[in-house]
Amino acid sequence: MRKLLFAANWKMNLTPAEGRALITSLRANLDPDAATLSRDREVMIAPPFLGIPAAAQALAGSSIALGAQNAHFEAKGAFTGEISPAMLQFFGVSHVILGHSERRHIFGETDELISKRVAGAIGNRLTPILCVGETLEQRDGGRTLETVIAQLQRGLTAIQISEAHRVVIAYEPVWAIGTGRTATPEHAQAVHGAIRGLLDETYGREIASTIRILYGGSVTPDNVDSLVAKPDIDGALVGGASLNADSFARIVSARAG
Ligand code: PEP
Repeated sequence: MRKLLFAANWKMNLTPAEGRALITSLRANLDPDAATLSRDREVMIAPPFLGIPAAAQALAGSSIALGAQNAHFEAKGAFTGEISPAMLQFFGVSHVILGHSERRHIFGETDELISKRVAGAIGNRLTPILCVGETLEQRDGGRTLETVIAQLQRGLTAIQISEAHRVVIAYEPVWAIGTGRTATPEHAQAVHGAIRGLLDETYGREIASTIRILYGGSVTPDNVDSLVAKPDIDGALVGGASLNADSFARIVSARAG
């Protein structure tokens, strides 16, 4: 049985003080310390790098995991502007979002670089959340599955079968991110099903059935239930709606059926 995962991507939003306040209010809403966060789900918050220490303090004693929005694969060295897995782990970071469409399309990250980051995360015992997704042009050209499968195959090239269960995939259609245009649950399920099929061919059914596949792209309290009701949608990666404690608390409490 896969646990649902609800992951907040704050992107380049919130000062450390604002992030701390949001976590305090989210915790008050969720009361995870009282174990009301049901056992079938996990929650993760990924602040900007500089917000991580304050977020770590605000999350102390909570079952909510701390994530980062990127990580380099080397431990240290001449990589200006990058952050290493060990630096993140110092503050208790356990998850890292990799290959987000903004990294791919605004900052030019390639599948090759992303696959090194995924391998680096696994090698350093961080859980990578590998993001894949087609642009509007690719969707309109009927190339959704081709695009997503190619990104996935390239992104996972360096991952051994024995490590595959530690990867989380996020299907995020680029046309749905921050646009208010969510994929229909049927479209998302079709792509998630194809992703599960590829994982099955690559790693075998047993491992494929343990890998979580999140949906991301304008997830809100109003559409999350119908998304996670689908058999291969194992939670959500949430941008805009994670910046408000009430909305994110409602999303985290999604009812799968
Ligand atoms: C994201 O940033 O990964 C995302 C899905 O954003 P939004 O929820 O705002 O579409």
